[in-house]
Amino acid sequence: MTVHRNTWQRERVREALADASGFVSAQTLYATLREDDTGIGLATVYRALAGLAAQGEADSLQSPEGENLFRACTSPGHHHHLICRSCGLTVEIAATDVEQWAQRTAAAHGFTQAEHVVDIFGLCESCAAERASERDVRA
Ligand SMILES: [Zn+2]
Ligand SMILES: [Zn+2]
Ligand SMILES: [Zn+2]
Repeated sequence: MTVHRNTWQRERVREALADASGFVSAQTLYATLREDDTGIGLATVYRALAGLAAQGEADSLQSPEGENLFRACTSPGHHHHLICRSCGLTVEIAATDVEQWAQRTAAAHGFTQAEHVVDIFGLCESCAAERASERDVRA
């Protein structure tokens, strides 16, 4: 195992991410860590988040504004997400069909070591219900 110089900082970022509710930006986490006087710089927060995301310990996605957002993953290993566009509710899902399809498709084209990222964005049940009731009020 490689020994990382910044292990404690990374642990601290991991904890802050776990405490945050929903998806947060690196800047938001940096601000939280600053309040705690940890002395962790923004660049370190970025690096730690990228590392966590690469290892599947954090979910990352781009907001409609193009900002990278992160969230602590509750499922270990490879998985997929259902994300509500409106409130950010995230459900972690296994997608056996997708795994088989990805392997088959990659192999059919002679690709090995194939990886993929598949997240589904939509409206969750309560947001959809809220919109439906808003429509009723206006009608
Ligand atoms: Zn996840
Ligand atoms: Zn929602
Ligand atoms: Zn997959």
